Amino acid sequence: MKPLPTSSPLGLFADALIQIRSEHGLTQLQCAELIERFPLKMLQKYDPSRFLELLRKTGFTTFNKPADHYGLSLILGGGETTLWELTGAYASLSRVLNTYGTSKKYYSGSWHPPVLIPDEHQIKEMPEDPDPPLSAASIWLTYEALQKVNRPETETGWQYFSSTPDLAWKTGTSFGFRDAWAAGTTPEYVIGVWVGNADGEGRPGLTGMTAAAPLLFDLVNIMPSSGKWFAQPYDEMTALKVCNLSGCRAGPDCTETQEIMVSINGERSDMCPYHKMIHLNKSGTLQVNADCVSPADIISMPWFVLPPAMEYFYRQKHPEYNTLPPFAPGCSDAGNVPAMEFIYPPPGIRIFIPRDQSGHQTRVIAEVIHRIPSKKIYWHLDNKFVGTTKLIHQFEFFAQSGDHILTVVDEAGNSAKSSFKVTGLME
Ligand SMILES: [Zn+2]
Repeated sequence: MKPLPTSSPLGLFADALIQIRSEHGLTQLQCAELIERFPLKMLQKYDPSRFLELLRKTGFTTFNKPADHYGLSLILGGGETTLWELTGAYASLSRVLNTYGTSKKYYSGSWHPPVLIPDEHQIKEMPEDPDPPLSAASIWLTYEALQKVNRPETETGWQYFSSTPDLAWKTGTSFGFRDAWAAGTTPEYVIGVWVGNADGEGRPGLTGMTAAAPLLFDLVNIMPSSGKWFAQPYDEMTALKVCNLSGCRAGPDCTETQEIMVSINGERSDMCPYHKMIHLNKSGTLQVNADCVSPADIISMPWFVLPPAMEYFYRQKHPEYNTLPPFAPGCSDAGNVPAMEFIYPPPGIRIFIPRDQSGHQTRVIAEVIHRIPSKKIYWHLDNKFVGTTKLIHQFEFFAQSGDHILTVVDEAGNSAKSSFKVTGLME
């Protein structure tokens, strides 16, 4: 048999780490749907090089390029690893959780690749780890999520597999359907399954869910099981009030909340930024403020307001989402709630511009989401007016190497900016 190709989907592990790191911001399962389209933004906030360092600390050696090489795609599986390392990483996570469960301590020796024949001398040498890459609470919550979250690719198969024993599991499919993956763990063992052609040839339908997961569950069902799950690391967890709509730590304006157990680090996470106090006229149909209406005629109420781009996607699945009423004539927006947001280029991005097949330099296609798409938008590149858009706010333009600022202004005078850098043009 030929060696296994190394073109595996990092998504198998990266998604899990998204859940782990969620303790630093958006926290709960309800939040998962909200953020599912924004993993790139999350990685940008977390810092790709920090994330790469975390992956290396958890045992991956195949991500040997600098963070720039992977970019934000790292969070979507834009890296390669092997079944051996991936399964080993899950085994390390489970080992840390089991060890913490019995000793309440961390050991650097818990993180290691799979071992074919255990070396007893090494096992005895277990210095305590003062700075473990991941806490037991983070791993435990991740495993809870990997048991329960109805991830997109599992939609059709979820019910079929739901009667199997407790198992934290994840599937993955590599680009071009070359590899189908599934990894699963219980407190007693970790199983990694790879399905594909040894020569790396792709085949439509070769997905983690259809090809690898059934094998994983066949294996799980023939393994002996104690029926026990990992001990919950209560020492590292605390009850926290979270917003039911965003899943973030509840703020003073959140309307519905619940208390859930989170990692103690969750206490440091940001409060829900999406519930805001909004000021309306007495009939509740228009936004007003004290500059244009007598305070006695103002009703203030909390409102769930997502940023424009997030609102655009969220509304498609949530018809109950109430968009903000418009401002009353003569009342101006104080700029508390942005009217527009750049989808592309996101602020701070570096862009490399290739040439097309005929040798011409390609254009950058910018996109802005406006809460009211029918509003006309005026585009400016480096403070020079370059064009207008209406309804679909996409705009093509050329840009030379260097720093640029793209500014959009709508009819009402609302504006948004994005600074970006063109790092080079492909010759
Ligand atoms: Zn809230």
